[in-house]
Amino acid sequence: EGIRHPDQHLQFQIHPFGQGERLVVLRDVTRVYKLEQMRKDFVANVSHELRTPLTVVRGYIETLSDAPSIPPAWARALTAMQGQCQRMTALINDLITLTKLETDEREIRQEAVDIGPLIQTIMSDAQALNGESTHTLIHKGDDNLVLRGNEKELRSAVSNLVFNAMKYSPDGCKIEVQYTANEHDVVISVSDTGVGIDPKHLPRLTERFYRVDGGRATTMGGTGLGLAIVKHVLLRHDAQLRISSKVGKGSTFSCHFPKARLIKRAK
Ligand code: ADP
Repeated sequence: EGIRHPDQHLQFQIHPFGQGERLVVLRDVTRVYKLEQMRKDFVANVSHELRTPLTVVRGYIETLSDAPSIPPAWARALTAMQGQCQRMTALINDLITLTKLETDEREIRQEAVDIGPLIQTIMSDAQALNGESTHTLIHKGDDNLVLRGNEKELRSAVSNLVFNAMKYSPDGCKIEVQYTANEHDVVISVSDTGVGIDPKHLPRLTERFYRVDGGRATTMGGTGLGLAIVKHVLLRHDAQLRISSKVGKGSTFSCHFPKARLIKRAK
């Protein structure tokens, strides 16, 4: 600490070296740290700046759509523009969420989160979206489970997993959410019987904008940021995401929280 300049960021590594000796490697990562900080600030600023003009464009599209007797070709164009605006809004919102998760690193609110009711509301929203499609949505678990964490962030993580399960499962598939505490950890898992994922993609799946099948995933309406958001929420809760999947059979995404976060469970 004595030799470090206040603006300097140093990384320490300690290696065993010879008999009972240690080799200490000090690396100056100030430049990398500053570049990363600039990237986060840039993304945060651009996302906020894009919000306002996009809202204005959406307003104009609505005004035009309400006009009496517009030609059918114009009506189609306006509907397409509306769809693209929705996509852009979703992308900007996800970018803002992700940047907040990355930058407010130490500001996680610690509250008692009732897991049962949280999952129930997520599943009701999913059921409402399910609409005409025929996914079977099931949830079961320990309804007395209470975790220390941030409810808004946990809602966002589990919703992303449930909506992904719906997106990547053809009609008729089963989507199941389970929440339990065992002797090692507290687990919330989302399983589907959908398209599944080739194991070679698993290590990169939570990277921003990484998609198994770029074109197809884009038409599904995703932003490519869902799993990055899940990863960051879990990191902030000292939790881990584990993924198991088989192509053509389905996938399970499970969130493992340390026992220390458990406030209450079923007797
Ligand atoms: P997207 O917005 O594209 O869904 P995500 O970050 O949420 O972005 O997911 C990244 C990629 O992981 C998706 O494009 C998709 O290829 C794959 N994926 C995510 N969840 C599932 C799932 N339940 N079943 C199959 N593939 C999935």
